[in-house]
Amino acid sequence: MNITFLGTSSGVPTLTRNVSSLALKLSQTAEVWLFDCGEGTQHQIMKSNIKSSQIKKIFITHMHGDHIYGLPGLLATLGLSGNSNGIEIYGPSELRSFVIAALKNSYCKLSFPLRFIEVEGIASLNKVLFESDKIEVRCAPLKHRLPAYGYRVSEKDKPGIFDIKKAKDLQIPPGPIYSELQSGKTVELKDGRSLNGKEFCGPPRKGESFVYCTDTVFSESAVNLSKNADLLVHESTFSKEDEKMAYEKLHSTTIMAAKTALLSNAKKLIITHFSPRYTQRSPIKPSDLLKEAQKIFPNTYLAKDFLTAEIK
Ligand SMILES: [Zn+2]
Ligand SMILES: [Zn+2]
Repeated sequence: MNITFLGTSSGVPTLTRNVSSLALKLSQTAEVWLFDCGEGTQHQIMKSNIKSSQIKKIFITHMHGDHIYGLPGLLATLGLSGNSNGIEIYGPSELRSFVIAALKNSYCKLSFPLRFIEVEGIASLNKVLFESDKIEVRCAPLKHRLPAYGYRVSEKDKPGIFDIKKAKDLQIPPGPIYSELQSGKTVELKDGRSLNGKEFCGPPRKGESFVYCTDTVFSESAVNLSKNADLLVHESTFSKEDEKMAYEKLHSTTIMAAKTALLSNAKKLIITHFSPRYTQRSPIKPSDLLKEAQKIFPNTYLAKDFLTAEIK
């Protein structure tokens, strides 16, 4: 799996950073899942290597405009282009009425079905939000000025690498039998041999996990959601110098984001959602934010628009 940042500014867009959105490309299907959809996200998608027709699910963290104002526009465009066959939207319960009102009052009738899934109850009970045979999504409440939710996407463990040489050496004819063996099944060959797939596979490979936490002040719930994640994307609106403001506005400092990564034993942290006050010309620069976080969690990176990162 990999992610692409489509917006990394907090609250308002700047010339170099749009408001929040991130695209997750799944590795086992050709799907793209979007996390947040600030205003202008559809332009960012056009400038990136993401195909909007591949968007199947959209996860919204909370109802602040910098995370949702791009949603009606994106949906309307997908409707006009006719290249979506349905989208599931996960988020707070108010999201449904916001989207439906925006579409209805602008006389927009979508050509594909929308399905809304409210996350409040699922987050508070720590239940699974979505599950397939390959992937699982969970969510958890964060601490912000209004209800906000973090999301975790975990791939299930994948079968070990198939030993093609061994199969060829045993003169097993290539074809669908190989994928059956790879999935660990026992296969009967036409010549009467019975083969155990497990003997042709290496050890199972650990599935990758990705966590997205924004907007929030430091929260135990974010730490729990991020346990042992391969990649944690956490907001870092403020520098440690501006901690007072972070507590007032219920956003994170670099220190809080890094502490979340450290306490959860995440492997890698990317900080995002920066206050527009930090520019190349301000006393505290984005590179200073990175240094602050790296002092606590060395494997930290700084998000920028269009940055793509592998989960592992
Ligand atoms: Zn925000
Ligand atoms: Zn917010």
